[in-house]
Amino acid sequence: MRKGRPHLPALGRKRTNRVGKGSIAWDDAPEFGPKKYVRVLSPKLKKDLRLLICNRRLVGVWTHYMEAVGPGHKGKTQPCTGHRVMCAGCLRKRARRWKGYLGCWAPKVGEYCIAEVTLEAARSCHDLINPDVDLRGRLVYLQRMGDSANGPVMAKLLPYEAETYLPDELDVVGALTRLWGYESDAWSGDDRKPAV
Ligand SMILES: [Zn+2]
Repeated sequence: MRKGRPHLPALGRKRTNRVGKGSIAWDDAPEFGPKKYVRVLSPKLKKDLRLLICNRRLVGVWTHYMEAVGPGHKGKTQPCTGHRVMCAGCLRKRARRWKGYLGCWAPKVGEYCIAEVTLEAARSCHDLINPDVDLRGRLVYLQRMGDSANGPVMAKLLPYEAETYLPDELDVVGALTRLWGYESDAWSGDDRKPAV
């Protein structure tokens, strides 16, 4: 162990931002870009969701529900790649489930999120999967029915509220691809770190 002068942090010389080199990052109009990992939301029992839809259309994908592998782990939805061996769900002969994902804005927390739309929810509100319906700017209301945490989810579309802040469309495919641990090269957002 080195003796002598104790190591002191250099005051005012943080080297976390080499590009700026001391210039202050004034920014009157930051862009509210999506975070690298956008949360996927579904309504909990007695906790309905009301989200502002940013995207014109929903993205649908076939998935498997993979049960928890042990205590402390949670079950999770994984995309089906259709490969007999490489797709863990197909390999374990799990049923395929359709899921819809909708790029939204959560007004209460002021950030992008992705609303999960189950098959039941899409059935209860066919406009969600109607390619002729432009969803951007509408509010989606998702409610879990019954008394079970896995009860079916019903959806409703509410009219646009003109005064509401409406951010750009979200790259839902890119966000899900990163979330599911597939290639992440496509990410080009700034992860809320404004460039200096
Ligand atoms: Zn599969």
